[in-house]
Amino acid sequence: MRLVLLGPPGAGKGTQARALGALWGIPQVASGDLLRAVVREDSDLGREAASYMDRGQLVPDDLVLKLVDARLRKEDARPGFILDGFPRNVTQAEALAKGLERYKLKLDKVVAVIVPDEEIVKRISGRRTCRNCNAMYHVMFEPPAKPGVCDKCGGELYQREDDAEETVRERLKVFAETTRPLLAHYDRLGLLAQVNGVGRTDEVEKRILTAVNGVAVPPK
Ligand code: AMP
Repeated sequence: MRLVLLGPPGAGKGTQARALGALWGIPQVASGDLLRAVVREDSDLGREAASYMDRGQLVPDDLVLKLVDARLRKEDARPGFILDGFPRNVTQAEALAKGLERYKLKLDKVVAVIVPDEEIVKRISGRRTCRNCNAMYHVMFEPPAKPGVCDKCGGELYQREDDAEETVRERLKVFAETTRPLLAHYDRLGLLAQVNGVGRTDEVEKRILTAVNGVAVPPK
């Protein structure tokens, strides 16, 4: 299964990608996580990436493409992968298709997770992320057992710099202007399904499974 989850920040792509990845035994590949790992290295490249991310802007394509390409070449992504947060524009989508073509591979499906902007702002302002394993929580809707501590690995939970309300609004604008056109792009290719991202995590997961029905099982 080679799946892309498309959607605005806070649509639940990360949560769903992780759950489906565990179900199918394939990795979640989140470009945001790859970039945050570079930022943590404290290099010139990391500082450059952070200067875009902190403002809610997209990081230049060449860096993102390099990171995603290297990740998809790893052994564990051979049977399939779930892309989360990538591609974010048509240039990235075309680069992805070309990269897969080289191995005679194609995407199986692109699922857009639809959530209204106001719901997103509400979700993201309470979002907390684990510094160590990137697991996500919400202070009201999905709190950890012990405040500030990750249930899964005991890591420290923090609020991402770009999860501040003003930056979230900028990220939503960037999504509307730059990423939303990908829906039409993938629709033309016959790959797109749209699901309602409002509701409990398990309900949204079921909708995604229904949307990929026919290609969902087996994943390899
Ligand atoms: P995310 O974790 O997907 O919400 O991404 C956080 C930030 O990382 C975004 O606001 C962008 O600044 C950057 N980013 C993540 N994925 C991409 C991508 N595919 N292209 C460009 N920038 C990205």
